[in-house]
Amino acid sequence: MEQDVSTGSYPKWWRFLWACALALCTPACLTSPVTGRTSFNPFPKSEDVKLGTEAYDQVLAEAKVVPSGPGHDMVARAMKRLVAVCDDKSYPWEVNLLQDDQTVNAFALPGGKMAVYTGILPVCKNETGLAVVMGHEIGHVVARHGTQRMTTTLGMNVVMQLLNLGDYTQLATTLVDLTFNLPFGRTQESDADAIGLHYMALAGYDPREAIAFWKRMEESSGSGARRAAGMLHPMKAAIRKLR
Ligand SMILES: [Zn+2]
Repeated sequence: MEQDVSTGSYPKWWRFLWACALALCTPACLTSPVTGRTSFNPFPKSEDVKLGTEAYDQVLAEAKVVPSGPGHDMVARAMKRLVAVCDDKSYPWEVNLLQDDQTVNAFALPGGKMAVYTGILPVCKNETGLAVVMGHEIGHVVARHGTQRMTTTLGMNVVMQLLNLGDYTQLATTLVDLTFNLPFGRTQESDADAIGLHYMALAGYDPREAIAFWKRMEESSGSGARRAAGMLHPMKAAIRKLR
């Protein structure tokens, strides 16, 4: 006998199961802004913020924050312009310039906490170059790549267990470790590139400058500059795409 869907003749238990499945799936399936790429993430956004803030405090406790000066002001200005046009203004966005001339890099944690190392400023050359870096990092945050990477690395069961236990210190320590030691996947990097370029344009920066920036970045990596593995970027692929 054929089942008549329109009259709702499915048994009640079947409809209940579907409702449960949808309820479980909705917060986990997310779509990246700009690129529309879909991915799976069991962390609610509020957990991204909680976790990112805890991890940020751990990093800053061992870093030397630059409190003022032209570099500090440029970083603050670029952040303000980019966040003003991004798809998630509700995050508690924050950026700090960290004194370390040997580290040619920047990173952002889930929930909008970002750091730029002084070592990357000469490669950026100016505020537009800096906006390439910061737009890219904001891209990782709004697409929620940090907690996605935690899930794929630790496994869903471990993540759910730690979340249920409320063990944020352990989760944050793991997040810091992954940020500095495990690169994002290529898909996530190109996702962040596309989102970053889009935000640059919206914020009034010339996104074409990204080609020159990634070339300078590539040259700097050949000069023996230190770059944490977690922030490596497939630069040649990025330049090819932009041409
Ligand atoms: Zn990246």
